Amino acid sequence: MAVEYLRISLTDRCNLNCIYCTPMEKSGFLKHEDLLRHEEIARAAAAFVRAGVKKIRLTGGEPLLKKNVVELVRLIKAIPGLEELALTTNGLLLAGLAEGLRSAGLDRVNISVDTLKEETFKKITGSPGFPKVWNGIQTALAANYTKVKLNVVIMKGINDLEIPDFAKLSVDYPLDVRFIELYNTNNRSYKLSGTLFTTEETKKRIAETMGALAEVPAGRGDGPARLYTLLGAKGRIGFISGRSDYFCGTCDRVRLDCAGKVYPCLFSPATHDLRELLRSGAPDAALDDYLKKVFLVKSNYKKDSPSAGHIEMSSIGG
Ligand code: SAM
Repeated sequence: MAVEYLRISLTDRCNLNCIYCTPMEKSGFLKHEDLLRHEEIARAAAAFVRAGVKKIRLTGGEPLLKKNVVELVRLIKAIPGLEELALTTNGLLLAGLAEGLRSAGLDRVNISVDTLKEETFKKITGSPGFPKVWNGIQTALAANYTKVKLNVVIMKGINDLEIPDFAKLSVDYPLDVRFIELYNTNNRSYKLSGTLFTTEETKKRIAETMGALAEVPAGRGDGPARLYTLLGAKGRIGFISGRSDYFCGTCDRVRLDCAGKVYPCLFSPATHDLRELLRSGAPDAALDDYLKKVFLVKSNYKKDSPSAGHIEMSSIGG
C-alpha cells in the first residue's frame, strides 16, 4: 500500500490528562529546543509530500497548544501537491481558533470527546471543560469545514451507556461519530484492558437502541473506519477496531513526532530521526532519499513483527 497519509504530532504537551493516555506527571516533557520548529515541520512535511503523501493530519499532545498554530497551518497548506490538511484536537481551545484555522487552509477537524456529561468528562480527562468542547464542536460545524468528526473511545462501565447519545449526534448533526476501541499502548491503557468495549458490542448497543445501521462505502479520508448511517441521519457512524480487527493491509500512514522521529507503524520499534538531518543543513535530495528508506521499512512491516510494546500516544498523537 502506498504511503499517502502523514500524521504530525506538534507537541507532547496536553491540557487534559486522559485516563488511558500519557500521564501529565510522566518523566517530563521534551525541552523546547528538542521540538521541531515551524519551518522544520513545514520542510519535513514538504519532503513527505514529494515522497507521495497527499494528506496530513496535525495532532499532539494537544496541537492547539502549539504557538502560532494558525500560521503553521498556513505554511503547511501552501505545500504544492498536498491535497488535504486535517487536525485532531480535544476541542478545549477550538471555539477560539476554528474560524482562523479554517481561513488558514485547514480542511477537516476531528474532535476527541469520550462523554457528553461534565462529571464523566472530569473522570476521564482529569479536568472540567465539557461545555468548552461542546462550544468548539458547534463553532467547527459553523466554520464550513469539509468534514467534522468526533472520536469516541468507548470503555465498559465508564462511558458505554452514552453510546446511543453519541449515535444520536450523527442523526442530528452533519458529523461523523467514530467509535474507537481502546488500544493497549502504555501502562495506563494496559490497566484499563478490562474495559475494552468491542466494535461488535457497540454496534449491538446502537442497533438495540437506535435502529438498524446501514453500511456505507468508505471514501478517501475515512482511514480505517468502517462506516454506517442511521435512518434519516445527517451524519455517519464509524468504527475503528484496532483491537478486534487489524487493518495493517490497508494502512497508508506514517507518523512524525514532535521531536522529528518518524514511525513507519504505530507498533513498529524502528524510529528514524529526521531532526538530525533537518538541522545538519542537508539538502532536500537527502531528505527525499531518507524517506524512501523509511517507506521501505513500512512496506516490509507485518503485523506479527516485533512490537514497540510501549507507545505514548501523547508524543505521536494516536
Ligand atoms: N489531544 C488531541 C486529541 O485529544 O484529539 C490529539 C492527541 S490524542 C493522543 C489523539 C487520539 O488518540 C484521541 O482521539 C485519543 O482518544 C486517542 N487515544 C489516545 N490513547 C488511546 C488509546 N490507548 N486507545 C485508543 N485511542 C487512544
